[in-house]
Amino acid sequence: MTFEEIKNDEQQYMMHTYGRFNTALVKGKGATAWDSEGKEYIDFTSGIGVNSLGYCDEGWVKAVSTQAGTLQHISNLYYSPLQTGVSKKLCTLTGMEKVFLCNSGAEANECAIKIARKYSFDNYGKGRQKIITLVNSFHGRTVTTLAATGQDVFHNFFFPFTEGFDYVKANDVSDLKAHITNEVCAIFIELVQGEGGVMPLSEEFVKVAEEICKKNDILLMIDEVQTGISRTGTFFCYQQYGITPDVVTSAKGLGGGLPIGACISGKKTADIMTPGTHGTTFGGNPIACAAANEVLSRVAEKEFLDEVNKKGEYIREKLSSMPNVKEIRGKGMMIGIVTEKDNAKEVAGKCVDNGLLILTAKNLLRLLPPLTISYEEIDKGLSIFKKVMEA
Ligand SMILES: *Cc1c(COP(=O)(O)O)cnc(C)c1O
Repeated sequence: MTFEEIKNDEQQYMMHTYGRFNTALVKGKGATAWDSEGKEYIDFTSGIGVNSLGYCDEGWVKAVSTQAGTLQHISNLYYSPLQTGVSKKLCTLTGMEKVFLCNSGAEANECAIKIARKYSFDNYGKGRQKIITLVNSFHGRTVTTLAATGQDVFHNFFFPFTEGFDYVKANDVSDLKAHITNEVCAIFIELVQGEGGVMPLSEEFVKVAEEICKKNDILLMIDEVQTGISRTGTFFCYQQYGITPDVVTSAKGLGGGLPIGACISGKKTADIMTPGTHGTTFGGNPIACAAANEVLSRVAEKEFLDEVNKKGEYIREKLSSMPNVKEIRGKGMMIGIVTEKDNAKEVAGKCVDNGLLILTAKNLLRLLPPLTISYEEIDKGLSIFKKVMEA
């Protein structure tokens, strides 16, 4: 099919929920993708932080295709060694205690929200249900996770939204303190706000949040859907802040390209969800778990993390001397670029025209390259980027 045919069919048969770039991607290898017309792209997006090991990584393809030819799905009425494998790895790598497997970031966050509400209900009864999230956060697209998302643009059309969320300004300790009442059961935050503009939280703010939580038996819940799975240079980003969260959510990079999410609980809430309180048909699907097991067996190795940090620094350093770069934010290989000309959308479009896939977040450019990207691909991508930024 030609690009025009694909585009026409999309217009005719698909709901217009996405603003898409003008290309149909059909093939990939490493950090390089090809479109329907055979044009080549360097990929600085990983499909929004999903393809942690790049396109069609050999080990990942083998794990997935072997599992597809062995057992593609079983109901959660039965035990699965693939599910226990993923869960055990996540607990071992974090020191946390129990995992619920689902299919996406929004679902992982739904589980966290349910845990917070039930923990509080079990221990304090009704009326202590408020969850503090941050202004400019992003937690998903279900009606409840939209309510959790602290951006007014998302609080439209779908009324009534789930009640019980309150929004605090990121890195504003006094605003946080002012919102703590005896109705609050959890603080739920990203440590580097992703969609909100690649904005890292200050250590002070996060430490204060942890103290408030400890003192008041409020749950500290971290949305690591974008920051996790070694994206920010440690396995989970919270490990850089020296905190012990009660609940951590993961998705995006966890399956390396297959849909899987996880809600990971520490000791306090490990047994809050009991039979009948939560579930999902596809959660912990064997093929998705085979993919996640492959990802988890690789990305948390010290040498792998060292490489992520080195590549992140390398990219940052090259960017810092480029024209139109005003500010570089983020951690590891989650990088945001503020442009002098405030023209991120335009730059992103031109990059695609010139063979580089790149993201935006608010008015920033955002890079989430595959963690396995080669220096050759980085250099190729950056030279396209420089050319566009110079123009
Ligand atoms: C992408 C994202 C989500 C939503 O994940 P989906 O898989 O799209 O439901 C939630 N939280 C954060 C921080 C994200 O970046």
